[in-house]
Amino acid sequence: MSELLDRMHSVQKRVEAACVRAGRSREDVCLIAVSKTKPVENVEELYADGQRVFGENKVQEMCAKHEVTKQDIQWHMIGHLQRNKVKYMADFVTMIHSVDSFRLAETISKEAQKHGRVIPVLIEVNVAGEESKFGVSPEEALPLVREIAPLPGITVRGLMTIAPFVDDPEENRPVFRQLKKLSVDIAKENINNVTMCELSMGMTNDFEVAIEEGATFVRVGTAIFGARNYSIG
Ligand SMILES: *Cc1c(COP(=O)(O)O)cnc(C)c1O
Repeated sequence: MSELLDRMHSVQKRVEAACVRAGRSREDVCLIAVSKTKPVENVEELYADGQRVFGENKVQEMCAKHEVTKQDIQWHMIGHLQRNKVKYMADFVTMIHSVDSFRLAETISKEAQKHGRVIPVLIEVNVAGEESKFGVSPEEALPLVREIAPLPGITVRGLMTIAPFVDDPEENRPVFRQLKKLSVDIAKENINNVTMCELSMGMTNDFEVAIEEGATFVRVGTAIFGARNYSIG
């Protein structure tokens, strides 16, 4: 078996084990294979193995892969998004995880309507308050959700965070716990057109802890595809 499939199966086993530890059903956690910078052949190999959910952080790369791969792949946009790029993916993107402004939400709303779609989105929250990260502060999340909720063509389904890079994944447990608490608090507001069913948190270094803390999407790149080499794109 290829190294790629070996790694994929080992990540799948770790997801399963984390679900068991957390007393959660495996179906409640979606493993997003983050294929950014990796060749489309890798996507096809995982597709043939049954994987259907992929994540990318650049619109152009996601569109290029979408065009040449099977149409039942679910593409998740997980990266920081410029408004002028939304139009290129509005007809096919499954979910946008990185909404952090009303203006971006407005653009998604407009482009989705052109295609007669309602695009599910998550609000990106910078829980740890890192300066280098995108996303709203925890305090800004509820006001932003309220503002976006009435827009047509878009529906808020939950929250996303990118946790700090740490040596010990346990260090990020409070970050994940805080995102979960925030989503419960926002859910209690019973805002029309808003559900807080999804929590996108956890990457290669900390996805098991994230699952234990309630993640419904984990975004895993390196552990599946191997290290990325940005110098050769
Ligand atoms: C690249 C990326 C990931 C995957 O990171 P790994 O550490 O390689 O698993 C997850 N989420 C976002 C937003 C990313 O940009």
